[in-house]
Amino acid sequence: MPQRIHCKRCGSILYDGTELKRPSEIVQRYECRCPKCGRNLSSVPIKVAVERMT
Ligand SMILES: [Zn+2]
Repeated sequence: MPQRIHCKRCGSILYDGTELKRPSEIVQRYECRCPKCGRNLSSVPIKVAVERMT
């Protein structure tokens, strides 16, 4: 089941894949900063969407 993690502020996709990741892991990968809007991700909860393949 694919998982998608967005920055809540700008909607930029931070992770998109079939492997389940913890949001905290993704935040760490980006050094707590959204690569697009520069927002500190630790203060802006990121949105996690798990989507079913149809
Ligand atoms: Zn962002």
